[in-house]
Amino acid sequence: MKTSYDILVVGAGPAGTTAAERLSANGFEVAVLEEHAIIGEPVDCTGVVGSEALEEFNLPRGLVVGWVNAVSIHSPAGIPVSYRGESPFAYIVDRAELDRTLAARARDAGATFLLSTQAADVTRDARRVEVFCRCPGGETRRLTAKVLILAGGPRFAFHKGLGLGTSSVLWRSAHAELPGDGLSHAHVFLGRDVAPGAFGWAVPVMRHGNPHLRLGVNSHSDAPRYLRKLCEEKFAHLLPGDGSLPCRSWVVPVLPVSRTYGDRVLAVGDAAGQVKPTSGGGIYYGMLSARDAADTVSEAFRRGKLTRDALAAYEKRWRARLGFDLKVGTLFRRLFARMADRDVDDLFRIIHADGLLARITERVSFDWHKELILSLLKHPKLARILMRRCLDWRAEPAFSDLPTL
Ligand SMILES: Cc1cc2nc3c(=O)[nH]c(=O)nc-3n(C[C@H](O)[C@H](O)[C@H](O)COP(=O)(O)OP(=O)(O)OC[C@H]3O[C@@H](n4cnc5c(N)ncnc54)[C@H](O)[C@@H]3O)c2cc1C
Repeated sequence: MKTSYDILVVGAGPAGTTAAERLSANGFEVAVLEEHAIIGEPVDCTGVVGSEALEEFNLPRGLVVGWVNAVSIHSPAGIPVSYRGESPFAYIVDRAELDRTLAARARDAGATFLLSTQAADVTRDARRVEVFCRCPGGETRRLTAKVLILAGGPRFAFHKGLGLGTSSVLWRSAHAELPGDGLSHAHVFLGRDVAPGAFGWAVPVMRHGNPHLRLGVNSHSDAPRYLRKLCEEKFAHLLPGDGSLPCRSWVVPVLPVSRTYGDRVLAVGDAAGQVKPTSGGGIYYGMLSARDAADTVSEAFRRGKLTRDALAAYEKRWRARLGFDLKVGTLFRRLFARMADRDVDDLFRIIHADGLLARITERVSFDWHKELILSLLKHPKLARILMRRCLDWRAEPAFSDLPTL
């Protein structure tokens, strides 16, 4: 059995498979390690991607199970701000099928997939990287490669040992899918009783020809409890008769890791914190950055230099693409986390009273948020509300950024 590759990729999520496809197409021997037996499962994602992502990566329309052409955002007091696009600006995909589609592309390009194979330990010397793997039935394997790409999602087990940073802010996240109709478009719910520090959501999708709702909560703590509360308060009619709520919980890294490259190693996707800090969406940013990673590694191989300095170009590339949006988004996330409910209500009232909605929505882009945020901050009344708790730290207990798990 083959044990040596040019590149090993840990994780068969969208970031890992995108990198694997491009590297294999460039002629490298690539193996992707995935700890689960089935790619794409279990699913910890709502699957919302912007239309730009669908186009950019030529994703098949067959993956789409719902679309977003309107969204209503509800303030803590229930004041709605609604936006309707002329056409869908985002789509909801079958996330498991998305992962399998991307994996199939990588396999077609020549990548090997080693399923039920968990990277358990990594060592590195001047010539190679060695990965110690756990396989089913207590079996173990040692694989070596010239380069390792960490794409294992928001787990940072190997980062520090390899000289990479980790994401120091993780939202807690819980999600569920309930059968039944109820909503015509996407809804977002705000408030400290709803989702402290972040937001809850509900989007309609079709599953096997039947309407369902995908619901979720990102928050600073105890997301499953807030999700249950959201369901009971707003969607009780959709809960099963016994009142149970089958939900899953996970985390979202909403701060990029401080360094995403080292000697013979790169991190991509959630493993690099390449996630929109405002929404927690990471599919598109992870895939874009995975392409940057693949291009940098390909060039480094051509030059015969796989050192930290040679791979530093990766971080320059992805930060040039995403960095400004991530910085402005992080600023907004921090301001928002400090706002009291009545600040958010005031913000919504001013948007209505001053007729700002049309001006704000001109700036809406599903994937790129800096223009919208900067336009809010440029408006004196809105900026005053957004900054209120920063100017008087003692006025309200503030959420501080959370440490990693
Ligand atoms: C509840 C929830 C809802 C979300 N909704 C959206 C959304 O609507 N839109 C959006 O854009 N983003 C959303 N996200 C974020 C999105 O899911 C992630 O940003 C995205 O999955 C990151 O992709 P990735 O390839 O970096 O990592 P992942 O998708 O996490 O893939 C990592 C893979 O690595 C495997 N793995 C991990 N460790 C090892 C190991 N040691 N050995 C072998 N395999 C390993 C895992 O099994 C997994 O398959 C959501 C997140 C959550 C939690």
